Amino acid sequence: MTKAASAAAKDLAAAGVRGVHVSWADNNGIPRSRIVPIGGLGGAASRGVGVTALFAVFDSHDRITYEHPGLATPSGDVRLIPVIERLSRLAGQPALAWTPARQVAADGSPWPYCQRGVLERQVALAANKGFELRAGFELEFAVAPLDSPDIESAPGHGGPAYSPHALVPLDGFVDALLHDFEANGLRIGQLHAEYGLAQIELSLGATDPVSAADDQLLARQTIHAAARAHGLRVSFAPMVSPEAAGNGWHLHTSIRRKGRNLLAGQDGPGNDGAGYLAGLLRELPALTAITAPSVPSTARLRPGYFASAYAFWGVENREAPLRYVPASALLGDDHANVELKPCDASANPYLALAVVLAAGLAGIDERLELPRPIEEDPGTWSPGERSTQDVRRLPASPAEQASELSAATWVADVLGDELLGAFRSVRESDAAWAKDRPIEEVVRAHLWRY
Ligand code: GLU
Ligand code: MG
Repeated sequence: MTKAASAAAKDLAAAGVRGVHVSWADNNGIPRSRIVPIGGLGGAASRGVGVTALFAVFDSHDRITYEHPGLATPSGDVRLIPVIERLSRLAGQPALAWTPARQVAADGSPWPYCQRGVLERQVALAANKGFELRAGFELEFAVAPLDSPDIESAPGHGGPAYSPHALVPLDGFVDALLHDFEANGLRIGQLHAEYGLAQIELSLGATDPVSAADDQLLARQTIHAAARAHGLRVSFAPMVSPEAAGNGWHLHTSIRRKGRNLLAGQDGPGNDGAGYLAGLLRELPALTAITAPSVPSTARLRPGYFASAYAFWGVENREAPLRYVPASALLGDDHANVELKPCDASANPYLALAVVLAAGLAGIDERLELPRPIEEDPGTWSPGERSTQDVRRLPASPAEQASELSAATWVADVLGDELLGAFRSVRESDAAWAKDRPIEEVVRAHLWRY
């Protein structure tokens, strides 16, 4: 790999690239990185780049918590190994390139806190059982002028939602997105002016889970750079104001065996596909604590915003946390998938995919039965009706998330005790920060973090 890295570095240097962001996402979904000069990429590929082990216990406000026993002192170093197969020049920052990082222990052995490693392990376990996941994220974000302190005081577009007119003032930015995504090797499914305040949505093409998570990180970097070049800034935060619709980063997945999409089928998914959906449904409350984990995430999950609030599934039901998208004669079997709505930019994308895959496979293994889909919005039902239909609220506070995680022992099998311990202390640190602050201040503090 060193040889391949050195050869790639030579080509990039000849093309004017001076440095490479070696990047990963922490337990708050916040991307972090080290820039390596291009001439040092070969060395970094074999020896890694040193960083403190404490990144596993950074909270959303860049505070370090020492409450997790495995990382309770300022001592300790890990190495970031650039994933050279994913090396990409950044079209919007032409002097720089980007790679995701593997985090390994100082001696090169696996490090239990590496989120990418957790997902690689789940993917390998699934492959051993003959299953393959396909995944793609949908990214919603809000746009404002570069010097704006928030979105509300100067929304970057004024709607109408879904209208081509809304994007006219952002023409240069949209052009840059279309150009830079392609140049950076990312596939956009579609892009539009979304329903929320100054909101845009862009969907990424489906691929294998590790690539989907890598793509999501590269997409963020690409969008930030394109915005900056056009005098704009973007917020990926789950909430941009307590009143406005939030930013969901919905996660679309389908599960396959021998290349066949198990979610496809004339009358809905067959047994295994139904098992996959039932597994996700059973584990939704704990899943949500990983896929929508921040304090603003819990505020986003309200009824009436297409963001999901109650644990149920539906066919093309926009209020459902699990929106089943069937195959059709027009679109073919490949198209069938399920959208997980309670997922956002504060989730680490590798961990989000790892728990989704594990929960879905458990459903197949255990041949779980899928209840009937719900067509309505249970948010409009009485508490009695919800309880008769066995529809529970998704966790709506850090304390509820914590108790769902304690109850779901399978999450420790997926994340490992070390990583889960670090993740939970980070959530506790965030919750303590937010405890006596009004929601406006909490939302503002997360606005530009992702
Ligand atoms: N903005 C909504 C959310 O918070 C999603 C709207 C939609 O695309 O259905 O997830
Ligand atoms: Mg949307």
